[in-house]
Amino acid sequence: MTGQSALVTGGARGIGAAVARALHAAGARVAVNYPSLAGDPAREDALALVDELNQGRPDSARALAADVASAEQVQAMMSELATEWGAIDHLVNNAGIIRDRSIAKMSLDAWKSVLDVNLTGVFHGCKFGLEILNDGGSIVNISSLSAKLGFHGQSNYAAAKAGVSTLSRVLARECAGREIRVNAVAPGVIETSMIASISDRARDELARSIALKRVGQPSEVASAVLFLCSPLASYITGTILEVDGGFLG
Ligand code: NAD
Repeated sequence: MTGQSALVTGGARGIGAAVARALHAAGARVAVNYPSLAGDPAREDALALVDELNQGRPDSARALAADVASAEQVQAMMSELATEWGAIDHLVNNAGIIRDRSIAKMSLDAWKSVLDVNLTGVFHGCKFGLEILNDGGSIVNISSLSAKLGFHGQSNYAAAKAGVSTLSRVLARECAGREIRVNAVAPGVIETSMIASISDRARDELARSIALKRVGQPSEVASAVLFLCSPLASYITGTILEVDGGFLG
């Protein structure tokens, strides 16, 4: 991917940071997006990651603030990137949040905020990202196994992720004329801060449902994203690649 550029939303930590590292290791220049929310440590994490990447190759990474739920901020981020880098070749819409609760107990705010970040955020990334994406490039959207299985307490999250999977299929058709491939990756249970609140007992129960009997690592999701961005996946578009260790339900 030498000579190519990529943008990873929510790239400060977890799966996004692993994706940024993988694309960078493959030779790409990488922009790491983080949310511009007051008090969020993501800014420091993003700047530290960018420093680390630039130490290996000077000027090969940069951090960009934008709350993906804000159309204005995403549009401004894309404009800034276009001014500095001209265009990008790969876009990974990774930013996401959870606010789990049963539907009976879920606040309207919890419903709306998860839909705003996880689904509308991907729409913003695709809509405004397409304006600066080179023809022949690729988009990978991070969905979730929850979109298919609908885990308890995740009506907001699962509905948003199901939307992400379907949006990706639609966009694959719409972008084919520009030879832009659009795919989604649906991770199972991955060891990041997103699952930090799951108890050891619940983890053991989850692991029993996984054929490989363990949760996944962010780097194992990043490998799938890297593959889908690469020329190795030149005939793959509109697919949902499950990276879940064989989740048996
Ligand atoms: P994480 O909480 O470690 O990372 C989420 C990232 O999104 C962070 O960098 C955060 O700063 C960023 N983010 C949150 N709100 C944002 C906003 N409004 N604008 C910009 N960035 C924002 O969690 P993770 O597990 O690394 O999650 C990454 C993606 O993978 C998410 O879309 C998540 O839904 C998905 N996923 C995770 C798992 C899992 O088990 N960890 C499973 C399936 C899917």
